[in-house]
Amino acid sequence: MVDYSLLKRLPKVDLHCHLSGSVRPATIMEIALEEGLEVPSKDMGIFTKNIQVSGNCQSLKDYLTKFDLPLKVMQKQKHLYRITYELLEDLWEQNIKYVEIRIAPYLHMEQGLDFHQILESVLNAMDRARKNLGIYSNLILICMRNHSPEISLNIVKEGHKYVGKGVVAIDLAGNEIDFSPELHKEAFQWAGNLGLRKTVHAGEVGIAENIITAVKELGAERIGHGVYAFLKEDVCQFIKDRGIPLEMCITSNVQTGAVEGYKAHPIKKYLDRGMKVTINTDNLTVSDTTLEQEYKKAIEFLDFNYGDLIRVIQNGIEFSFADEGEKERLKEVINRELESLNLK
Ligand SMILES: [Zn+2]
Repeated sequence: MVDYSLLKRLPKVDLHCHLSGSVRPATIMEIALEEGLEVPSKDMGIFTKNIQVSGNCQSLKDYLTKFDLPLKVMQKQKHLYRITYELLEDLWEQNIKYVEIRIAPYLHMEQGLDFHQILESVLNAMDRARKNLGIYSNLILICMRNHSPEISLNIVKEGHKYVGKGVVAIDLAGNEIDFSPELHKEAFQWAGNLGLRKTVHAGEVGIAENIITAVKELGAERIGHGVYAFLKEDVCQFIKDRGIPLEMCITSNVQTGAVEGYKAHPIKKYLDRGMKVTINTDNLTVSDTTLEQEYKKAIEFLDFNYGDLIRVIQNGIEFSFADEGEKERLKEVINRELESLNLK
């Protein structure tokens, strides 16, 4: 019998968490009403169901529509600050020791905020959460596939000014079917030169080759999802040979139809063949999940044991974009807690 009660107390790491997909439902409702926005229902139960994916989500495109309302309430500095801080409070309560939050700055400019106002709001909240709660976080800036390459370049040129101040990396996300990774190659070249680390959503839908393109053309150091690598043996081998870490998000992959149910998820096969996998949430609210629940699914459906989970957590620290000093500190904290749970 597996003791699930330990999952809550397990010290955890999340490398793939979108701020806009992880806003508390009550906060979305409150800000939406304050801002005079239309809400699907004022009944909290119905409202919450409406902003989360349900059984009839068919694809990544469907999944992405759930971000429309959250993004509308993230257009002012005070709201961005509050939403970031609340997420960190929630994660702290779930014993997340380290999180890399990601935002797409250009999706928060509808009401006139500029790049720096957006980053400052989020970074200030992260800073305060670190001081008040002790939860450590870093920020990843997302370039959207459907935006112009110039916008991606701008994110890099402005974003690198915050390296050392909480911003650690850039990412490429969004509709993978219609926009290939190479479109944003120039931004990613600049990022490397300017001290930003790189991760890319790839192989989240059925194009396994995007993983290789992301690594070879964009210099991706980590891959977001990479779930479809299993379609091509050479892609799996490539990831393994290069030691490319995968930021996997099991529930999200089930919801976008990337895999047919939890049991079909390839994460355990990847782990067993020596690929560097991590387990992450993607979107706490949109996917209606927590890291604890993701670990539970891994045990229930994918034959994970606590030893596997500890490897995943250690991968999370090792392949995080935190600096070496912080990684050492986090390793100590995590090892101490694992020992106290008799898991070390
Ligand atoms: Zn993602």
